[in-house]
Amino acid sequence: MRNLTRRSLLLATGGAAGWYGSGLLHADLPVPDGTARLAATTSPGMLNDASGLSATPINRHITLNQPPDDSLIAALRAEMASARAEGRAFNIGAARHSMGGQAIPRDGIAVTFDNGLIEADTAALTYRAHAGARWSQVIAALDPLGCSPKVMQSNNDFGTAATFSVNAHGWPVPFGPMGSTVRSVRMVLPSGDLVIASRTENAEIFNLAMGGYGLIGAIVDLEIEMVANTRLIPTFEVLPADGFATAFRKAVDDPAVTMAYGRLNVERASFFRQALLITYREDADQTDLPAAAGSGWMAHLASRVYRAQLGNEALKSFRWWNETVAGPRLGGGPATRNSLINEPVVTLGDRNPNRTDILHEYFVDFDRFVDFLTACRAVIPDSYQEFLNVTLRFVAPDPDSVLAFAPTPRIAAVMSFSQELTARAEDDMARMTRRLIDRVTEIGGAYYLPYRPHARLDQLTAAYPRAAEFAQAKRLLDPRLTLRNNLWDSYLGMI
Ligand SMILES: Cc1cc2nc3c(=O)[nH]c(=O)nc-3n(C[C@H](O)[C@H](O)[C@H](O)COP(=O)(O)OP(=O)(O)OC[C@H]3O[C@@H](n4cnc5c(N)ncnc54)[C@H](O)[C@@H]3O)c2cc1C
Repeated sequence: MRNLTRRSLLLATGGAAGWYGSGLLHADLPVPDGTARLAATTSPGMLNDASGLSATPINRHITLNQPPDDSLIAALRAEMASARAEGRAFNIGAARHSMGGQAIPRDGIAVTFDNGLIEADTAALTYRAHAGARWSQVIAALDPLGCSPKVMQSNNDFGTAATFSVNAHGWPVPFGPMGSTVRSVRMVLPSGDLVIASRTENAEIFNLAMGGYGLIGAIVDLEIEMVANTRLIPTFEVLPADGFATAFRKAVDDPAVTMAYGRLNVERASFFRQALLITYREDADQTDLPAAAGSGWMAHLASRVYRAQLGNEALKSFRWWNETVAGPRLGGGPATRNSLINEPVVTLGDRNPNRTDILHEYFVDFDRFVDFLTACRAVIPDSYQEFLNVTLRFVAPDPDSVLAFAPTPRIAAVMSFSQELTARAEDDMARMTRRLIDRVTEIGGAYYLPYRPHARLDQLTAAYPRAAEFAQAKRLLDPRLTLRNNLWDSYLGMI
């Protein structure tokens, strides 16, 4: 019960970023008056992602469930050769939770992997994972061994290669993005060659593929680091938002702290003025760890409160009180590391067919965090969007990936909005996103690439100064441009 209580608190405080689209649905085109609903319908020959707003024509969608051996490699080579022969794009996806067609090849061959093979080496503290294995499968394999993923997202639905390909970060500290925990990957290049890429072998390919959105090669499997699963105790601190960066840095620098995140209040009257810092330290008692739990009734209750806050300032105030006062009193008990990260996206699901949850994420240096808060206060409440949640995470510098979003130690702000499925709301979201990205790049920060494709091209190159180098290297490795998706078609391929 105590674990469930902790988990529900984490949900309510945004351990999960909050998402619920209507699954892989297909949105019709915006209608002229801007207010009618963007209908979510299924149509053959189209593929969508979790936003429900990325309906894209494809030639075919195939699922490959072979283990990561010669059979999978042969199947990938054959599909890529067909794509080349037919002059089509090819792209692999996993959970398809990216929100702007980053895993969809327009008019091309879309592949989804369905195989959760995990082989752990407890002596080396590493495991080999099928590229399509989901984090829920990784946790299920590692938990009985007393081990835990070192870095993954705050939800367990996503694929391991997809996580490497967006170079996602988590909330265990003091780590960099997930790529920093990957020793090597095996991938089939557009040429059909199978390569092993690591920091010492084909390092250039490794650095391009980490955060390379499936544009460099088809990853078959990965060797990933793991850590011990431990029982953790939380501590809660409420503080002025302007003081958060200093307190967070201190927490991250404390070797006893192994997981940490923050939250900001989202009531309109005091938007982004108060912060909550939650830190976890190991319990003295590490015996008899319970199995990693799934979502309990408390988590589902928290999710209903999360949803009910939509357009309801009183409930937003209640939620903040609950998270900062009631929750810590009720839910300050221990939980295992694996239980804290074993959260499916669906727990926070929205059952409203007229809305979709849209995420944004920004990365800023610690000394620019106050400027970031000022920018958010200026831009977000002016928009028409319902702001649901923000969590703050630590990302250590990433010296490897070419498309790095954290070249320096950064605070990541993961924001969740509930957007109406109308053309008017879509326009408003695009406007707000561009204003926020301008403000963030002005202070030297970056925005995250797996979300809605609303940025201008100059905003991408400002946030990712090595984008042109990435595009040039990709063209050399893939001269026929077989590996393509909307990130290439709308952005990187335009550079
Ligand atoms: C609720 C929610 C919570 C989130 N929380 C976090 C978080 O805590 N931290 C964070 O950093 N991000 C977070 N994200 C963003 C998330 O990490 C990305 O959206 C990620 O892409 C999701 O994984 P996926 O399996 O859905 O990937 P997909 O959308 O299926 O694919 C993502 C990319 O990976 C590529 N790819 C997939 N498989 C392969 C392969 N085998 N070989 C080569 N390329 C491949 C695809 O081509 C695509 O470009 C969150 C998103 C949501 C919706």
